[in-house]
Amino acid sequence: MTRIIGITGGIGSGKSTLANCFLAHGVPVIDADEISRFALTPASDCFPAVVELFGNEAKKPDGTLDRAYIAAKVFADSYARDALNGIVHPFVIREMLKRSGESDSPFVAWDVPLLFESGVDAYCACTVAVLCGEEIRVARAMRRDGANEEQIRARIRAQITDETRAALATYTIRNEGTLDAFYAEADTLIGTILEELL
Ligand code: ADP
Repeated sequence: MTRIIGITGGIGSGKSTLANCFLAHGVPVIDADEISRFALTPASDCFPAVVELFGNEAKKPDGTLDRAYIAAKVFADSYARDALNGIVHPFVIREMLKRSGESDSPFVAWDVPLLFESGVDAYCACTVAVLCGEEIRVARAMRRDGANEEQIRARIRAQITDETRAALATYTIRNEGTLDAFYAEADTLIGTILEELL
């Protein structure tokens, strides 16, 4: 059985950076955000349910979904948002389990921003929370996404706090210094985790 290592953290904390460190150790990474985007493409098996929810107006002439249309709908209508989540979230979990089952690696790392909020931690042999103060996270996310500060702070407010993440996670790692310092700490932590899981 492939064992699942759950990686989480607030926006801009360094989850993807840590996931890349796992990859460098030969641990395949499964990215929940990437699968959520895949869910809205015609290749996913939840595509017909999404089209049925929003109607044909949500489709572009080329048959793909109009993401801006859907984003506006779910922003304006919490029923539509809950209904979309009710389709996409189970699909993401199914797909992550499927990809994990297909992997011949003894471990896979799941990069899941809302790991604890969604209850996905229940599938994990252990979890790692990447911790980082809000001001640094906001600055990083603004640099990376070109998003505005208020949007990022609103997303942070919608997530659990670092204090809660730290209380729930099996392991924590701080990422407030240089990238090189983080890589060194991540190497040690990954060594410990893989040894414990073996
Ligand atoms: P998350 O996946 O948690 O949102 P990322 O791993 O994508 O965060 O990191 C956010 C951004 O900050 C990325 O552009 C990343 O390269 C950068 N970054 C991460 N850690 C550091 C660090 N210690 N020093 C400087 N930049 C960093």
